[in-house]
Amino acid sequence: MEKILIFGHKNPDTDTIMSAIAMANLKNKLKKEAKAYRLGNINKETKFALDYFRQEEPELLEDLENSQSVILVDHNDFGQSVKNIENANILEVVDHHKISGFSTSEPLYYTAMPVGCTATIIYGMYKNKNIEIDSKIAGLMASAIISDTLLLKSPTTTDLDKKVLEELGEIAKIDVKEYGLEMLKAGTDLSDFSADELINIDSKPFSTNGVNYQVAQVNTASIEEVIKDKEKIENAMKNFISKNSQDLFVLLITDILENNSQILVAGSRKDIAEKAFNVKLNDNTAFLPGVVSRKKQVVPVIDKNC
Ligand code: MN
Ligand code: MN
Repeated sequence: MEKILIFGHKNPDTDTIMSAIAMANLKNKLKKEAKAYRLGNINKETKFALDYFRQEEPELLEDLENSQSVILVDHNDFGQSVKNIENANILEVVDHHKISGFSTSEPLYYTAMPVGCTATIIYGMYKNKNIEIDSKIAGLMASAIISDTLLLKSPTTTDLDKKVLEELGEIAKIDVKEYGLEMLKAGTDLSDFSADELINIDSKPFSTNGVNYQVAQVNTASIEEVIKDKEKIENAMKNFISKNSQDLFVLLITDILENNSQILVAGSRKDIAEKAFNVKLNDNTAFLPGVVSRKKQVVPVIDKNC
């Protein structure tokens, strides 16, 4: 039997890791040989969730052999995927992002839904196949939804995410709110990150109309606590830009308790960020009330101004 490699995007977040694990679990229950992988280091929030439900972290995947069979979860952009993805045999994609930088030479299963989390879609796949979700997997999937929707507060949240999270919470026997806040807070401990590491915790490249830009996000319970290292962070962003030939770098510093973000902006096309958010940057920074979602509130408006 061919072995299927399942993985999410680089700079993995909780949804990417848990969705890969849940998808591998579903395939295994359907008698397929499949295994979850990660494309980078596990962040603190994800580690908290993995430890809580006693799940080992997936193995690191550095690149692919030609025509290796794979399933992509939580991404489709090859720029955010593993090395040599162009030569893989992509069997399936399960995702909730815009479709870009993606093409295959063979037909495939492609499941995309505009919901708050990939794990929400995978939950539906278990239901369709009549496969029971055990309590550990339910806990991991609940963690993914809590993470991607910021405990159902992000504007990406749909009624389906709410319903699925409630059901997963029951299977996992957790108080979703209490557990969720604890998990999100675990991800806000940025104390031992250097500025270079900080801008890479959750960072994604995009390319639109010839503009190459990067959007990174960090979660915090105190924007001031992060912004006090503004100078170091800006230097790290500038270095990143020159190393990766980027035109623009936007760092979202997101207050997960108040659901607002402060942005830090670097690059030769800062004007795009000003137009996108309709703000005047003050010393390369601006406060964006109610903005928490890169996917829904940041990338689309930047794209429109590229
Ligand atoms: Mn993700
Ligand atoms: Mn996701």
